[in-house]
Amino acid sequence: MTVTRTFEDLKAGLAPTPRMPLVFLGHGSPMNAIQDTAYSRAWSELGKTLPRPKAILVVSAHWMTRGTTLVDVSAMPRTIHDFHGFPEPLFQQNYPAPGAPDLAREVVSLLASHHAEEDDQWGLDHGAWTVLKFLYPKADVPVFQVSIDMGRGLDYQLEIGKTLSALRDRGVLVLGSGNVVHNLRAVEWGPGARPHDFALEFDALFADRLTDRDFAALADRQRLGSLLQQAHPSVDHYLPALTMAGAADDGDDLTFMTDAIDLGSISMRSFVFHAR
Ligand code: ZN
Repeated sequence: MTVTRTFEDLKAGLAPTPRMPLVFLGHGSPMNAIQDTAYSRAWSELGKTLPRPKAILVVSAHWMTRGTTLVDVSAMPRTIHDFHGFPEPLFQQNYPAPGAPDLAREVVSLLASHHAEEDDQWGLDHGAWTVLKFLYPKADVPVFQVSIDMGRGLDYQLEIGKTLSALRDRGVLVLGSGNVVHNLRAVEWGPGARPHDFALEFDALFADRLTDRDFAALADRQRLGSLLQQAHPSVDHYLPALTMAGAADDGDDLTFMTDAIDLGSISMRSFVFHAR
C-alpha cells in the first residue's frame, strides 16, 4: 500500500517547536573551509549557540536553476567540489550528513506555486558544506538544498522565504549562504586590499534596510539602481540573503556578524534572526 503524506501530515509529524532562528552566512572563498579564519571561527561559535535542528534546509548561491525551484530529495547528498584551481586538500573534503527525503518532498508541495520539483542529483555544493562543517561538525543533522530560480524577479525569492518560514516552527533550520556584496570582477588580490566604495555603500544600505525590516526595498531593482549592478553583476550570491529576509518577521530580533569586506568587493556580512 502506498501512503501519500501531505504537508499537514508532515507538520503533525514534525511537532511544533520553539521558533528556530534563521541564518544567513557570507561564505566567501572556499578556502575558509580548510583555514582558521575569523569567518570559520565565527561559524564554529555560532554553531555552539544554535538549537539542534531536526533538519537543515540550505539555500545556496551555487545551485542556480531557471524556470523551476529544485529541491534535493536524495537520501545521502554527495559533497560537490564545485570550484577550480584550489589546493588538493579542499577536494578531499567530505560532509557526509544524511538528506531529509520526506521533508524535502513536502517542501516541493509547499513550494508548488513556485514551480518546485524534486531533484536527486545535486547534493551539497560548497556554499553549503564549507559553512556546515563549522556549524555542525559531526555532520549528524539531516540536510538538503533548495535551488534559486535565476529566471525570476528579486521579490520571488522573498516570497519563497515567506513560505519556507513555516518550517521554523517545526524544528527546521533555514540557512542561506551567499554574499551581501559579490563582485568577482572587482576583486583586489593581496593583503590589505581596501574595500571599494560601492561595496561599502551597498553593504551599509543592505544592513540599514534589513534593520528597518524594509525587505521590499532590498528587492526593488529600480530603487537599488546601478549600485545593485556594481555589487552584484549577477545576483546569485544576493538571492539567498533575500530568501532569508523573506522568512523573517516582526517577532524576530536581528544580529549581524562578520561584517567585513574581503578582497575589496566581497561582503562577508552574516546575520541571524532570532525569534523573540
Ligand atoms: Zn560563493
